[in-house]
Amino acid sequence: MARALYIHWPFCIRKCPYCDFNSHVRQDVDQARWAASMLADLRHEADIAGGEPLESVFFGGGTPSLMPPETVAALLAEAERLWGFAPGIEITLEANPSSVEAANFAALAQAGVNRVSLGIQSLREESLQFLGRLHNVGEALDAVETAQTNFDRVSIDLIYARPGQTEDAWHEELSQALALGTDHMSLYQLTIEPNTRFATDVRLGAFDPLADDPAADLFALTRALTAEAGLPAYEISNHARIGQESRHNLAYWRYRDYFGIGPGAHGRRGGTATLRHKKPENWLAAVENGGDGIKEARDLGLREQASEALLMGLRLAEGLDLGELSGRFSIAQRDLIAPEKLRLYSDLGLVRQDGSRITVTDSGMPLLDGLLAELVPEALVSA
Ligand code: SF4
Repeated sequence: MARALYIHWPFCIRKCPYCDFNSHVRQDVDQARWAASMLADLRHEADIAGGEPLESVFFGGGTPSLMPPETVAALLAEAERLWGFAPGIEITLEANPSSVEAANFAALAQAGVNRVSLGIQSLREESLQFLGRLHNVGEALDAVETAQTNFDRVSIDLIYARPGQTEDAWHEELSQALALGTDHMSLYQLTIEPNTRFATDVRLGAFDPLADDPAADLFALTRALTAEAGLPAYEISNHARIGQESRHNLAYWRYRDYFGIGPGAHGRRGGTATLRHKKPENWLAAVENGGDGIKEARDLGLREQASEALLMGLRLAEGLDLGELSGRFSIAQRDLIAPEKLRLYSDLGLVRQDGSRITVTDSGMPLLDGLLAELVPEALVSA
């Protein structure tokens, strides 16, 4: 059963132009009502699937650093009462680096948070403005320092492959970020998601996204610089010192079960996919009227689970073990990934096969989406 718990806080002060997460801007949030409903949604999940102690909790969003620390504390106390916490549990909270939020870090640490993931996004003023961020570089640097004082583990997020970004510029910026000394970094290429303001901007010709070739060069540079600094990629966009990987996110990528509560949260428990109501008001009404925020709970067939496990596992540097997946989902290895496809992409140097362990190589990683479409059989995906 799941040992990872995800809690979604859906509110942000302003919508960033590249963001397609389930985040919403609201003038007033009735904090007491929200805290009570989050606790109710949590209890509902534990009623269905209590059991083994949790190994990780992750507060994501939206901007969970806007949650009152007392709500974070109440949720953690209740989760510990309901499930128990395994020794050394990882408790992460995503935070934006404004000075207002950094002022809450001590209280969040007091509440039990021991790892923070900071949405720095850039160390260049003009890029922060382009990305529509509310903080400046000085605040970002101060927030990293405050986080390092208050939390055992700190991760920072940066967005690269921005329009016009050169290798030299990214080399300098990433080196500066690495010098901050965090043990974990999430480094995402800017992608233009449908239904975002950036998608409209690109359509109207306001800017051109970086082309594929220079973006691939920046990807290669990112891997080289982080590896040199002792934070190799352990997932396509995530880099860590050995032992400092996000245990919570590894549960997703290794296709372990997880509970998800709060608006729009997904969960996987015992072969059932759960989805909460996405719009905050709908989720709130569902919890207040029915005791939980679940919109849909759907049993997944073994083939669908296997395809999800393949799509997740191939993102990881450690790859996946086809033999283990075959046993887990009672599907022959050759039906998980066709041997001729494996041979073809191994010969091209994009995939490595070591016994039944399959990994995507450094050359294959920039092509991961296309490669996944090639490797994971249609029959599994559409199961
Ligand atoms: S702060 Fe994060 S979740 Fe909120 S709009 Fe910006 S990118 Fe999206």
